[in-house]
Amino acid sequence: MPSIALVTGANRGIGYEVARQLATRGWIVFLTGRTLAAVKRAASSIDSSVTPIPLDVTSRVSIEAAFGIVSQTVDHLDVLINNAGILDQDEGSIFDLPPERLRRMFETNTIGSLLMTQTFLPLLRKSGSARIINVSSGAGQLTDMDTWAPAYSISKTALNGVTGKFAAALKDSNIAVNSVCPGWVRTDMGGNEAPRSLEEGADTIVWLATEAPISLTGQFIKDRKVIPW
Ligand code: NDP
Repeated sequence: MPSIALVTGANRGIGYEVARQLATRGWIVFLTGRTLAAVKRAASSIDSSVTPIPLDVTSRVSIEAAFGIVSQTVDHLDVLINNAGILDQDEGSIFDLPPERLRRMFETNTIGSLLMTQTFLPLLRKSGSARIINVSSGAGQLTDMDTWAPAYSISKTALNGVTGKFAAALKDSNIAVNSVCPGWVRTDMGGNEAPRSLEEGADTIVWLATEAPISLTGQFIKDRKVIPW
């Protein structure tokens, strides 16, 4: 039986590349994103075995509708990849950061992953060994407070907190929960100047999904190595 994964924000960028690589390995992949047209287009460009599902991580209704589709199609889920994320390119400084901007970042980058994990846990619990992978960012590291984009950074710090809390709560289960920094990657978000290709950006995420020991949990990981939060 092939492994089964769901990837959020997979119609483009790093999420698309992760979905593509998993499908290439023969996995059953649910490729999700905000709009039906975009996920259909992305899925058909990979393989007819990839299932496109519209899923906006800021909408509980949308998440539950997607859960309904997935649970009618498969009886478990092996890997949930919370990849969907947003960044405002010109956030300005913390001195005049509008609270609305921080709330908006949290809705997608942090609460989206929280709701996705809560909703899909029943299917993940039915896997022999499951993994939840939260795509975070080095910008969220508490060891680096000089990073630009304060709202984005704070939302990713909080995402790492969500990772740690789920990992601790699930420590007696067969579910590993980790955060990943993909590095600076050439996507719409990362821009053309970024040094990493899509393949390089997807590498640690795909490694965690497919090869990493299930005992590796509650960590922040870059280039297949644990780094400080
Ligand atoms: P892109 O901007 O290229 O793609 C982002 C994806 O997230 C798109 O598919 C987008 O969908 C989707 N998305 C945005 N909001 C939502 C939502 N509410 N519900 C569902 N999907 C949504 O970004 P990247 O591929 O570069 O980034 C992927 C992840 O990697 C993000 O979490 C990002 O923070 C992280 N990251 C990226 C880095 C980089 O250098 N690129 C560096 C560090 C971390 P749509 O097409 O509809 O907008």
